[in-house]
Amino acid sequence: MKRICAVGAGFSGAVIARELAEAGFRVLIIDERDHIAGNCHTYRDSETGVMVHAYGPHIFHTADERVWAYVNRFGTMMPYVNRVKANVRGRVYSLPVNLHTINQFFDSAFSPREAEAFIRSKARLDIEEPRSFEEQALRFVGEDIYLAFFAGYTKKQWGVEPSKLPASILKRLPLRFSYDDNYFNHPYQGMPRDGYTEVVRNILDHHNIELRLRCEYGDLDEQFQHVFYSGPLDRYFGYDLGRLGYRTLDFEGVRAEGDFQGAAVINYPDPDIPFTRISEHKHFAPWESAQLDKTIAFREYSRLCGEGDIPYYPIRLLNEERLLKQYEERAAAEAGVTFVGRLGTYQYLDMDVTIARALKVAEEYLAKTRQ
Ligand code: FAD
Ligand code: UDP
Repeated sequence: MKRICAVGAGFSGAVIARELAEAGFRVLIIDERDHIAGNCHTYRDSETGVMVHAYGPHIFHTADERVWAYVNRFGTMMPYVNRVKANVRGRVYSLPVNLHTINQFFDSAFSPREAEAFIRSKARLDIEEPRSFEEQALRFVGEDIYLAFFAGYTKKQWGVEPSKLPASILKRLPLRFSYDDNYFNHPYQGMPRDGYTEVVRNILDHHNIELRLRCEYGDLDEQFQHVFYSGPLDRYFGYDLGRLGYRTLDFEGVRAEGDFQGAAVINYPDPDIPFTRISEHKHFAPWESAQLDKTIAFREYSRLCGEGDIPYYPIRLLNEERLLKQYEERAAAEAGVTFVGRLGTYQYLDMDVTIARALKVAEEYLAKTRQ
């Protein structure tokens, strides 16, 4: 029987490879990079001893019990709660927008009910069905908070006016009338003790799986029973209909003694500051950070993804949606290939959703081959 091929050794490819390997298939998993774990790759920085998230900070959070059990099977998850600050015009505020933020920003001491009534008085309730990011923000928190925390950050992050972006981007963030400053609402949250790359290594540790790094899909000449492709959708088709738009990120590392900023993530929404946020990675591992004398932090700059850059965030404006539809039709007609993951489906997917979808894709494939 011919082998299965998983293109890309991120969570998508690794989970599918494992599920099929356990069901008795022989799987070749490849990645053109020289490491596994895709954009979740972590490594220990030799100078500071800090576990660095190579492609930007990754926090695992989910409401899906099956996915939580899955990551805990392949790695030791340590307690971690993401708490983010924002530096706005030289003052530091709590995020996501909560009672503390409101009281700091308006120099008040509102109770939850008072704050809710106050924000309601500021919110643009006349916008009945917010369509854009801007409309959603104005309806949600009103103009003052929108301009201070969201307008500048969003323009830097996406490179377009918030009035041109879908409301769904903001819907990811909570607004709370309590002092709860947990950045996420999910019941399960944590950080892998030995990094995400170790979790993926354990997922791939199966006698039916062969891993090949520095290997591009186009260079393979083996025939496969089926291919699960987690690379960029437009790239698979040689970009012949055009390129799907992405934002890419540049990271500027800063090394220091001790503690650089006292928190894992500080956002910088001001429009005149060129970066969006600074993440200091030793704070993602609070169980070991006290033992580390040195530190490393990264300023994060967002820009349009060009040829040769790493695609990070799918932009999904109207013209991309149109192009995506055309590529999706071609993908559906491509026999023997299933397109998966963040790049293969051109969607912003958190790790937990990526794993849940990969489990489902594998299940569906197994059900089909058993028929
Ligand atoms: P990827 O991780 O991108 O893996 C795809 C792999 O395929 C890559 O390694 C690539 O080299 C390889 N590849 C592509 N084409 C080819 C080819 N032709 N031949 C061979 N190999 C190929 N999620 C969270 O849950 N929490 C977070 O805090 C979080 N933070 C994020 C921060 C940033 C800055 C970004 C951009 C994403 C974040 N995510 C977060 C999302 C997370 O990165 C994704 O869920 C995850 O990486 C998706 O895994 P994947 O396997 O689909 O894709
Ligand atoms: N956002 C913002 N200000 C902030 C944080 C987020 O305007 O301080 C907006 C921005 O448009 C961002 C979106 O909210 O893209 C989602 O934020 P999140 O923190 O989830 O961004 P991610 O971690 O996905 O980059």
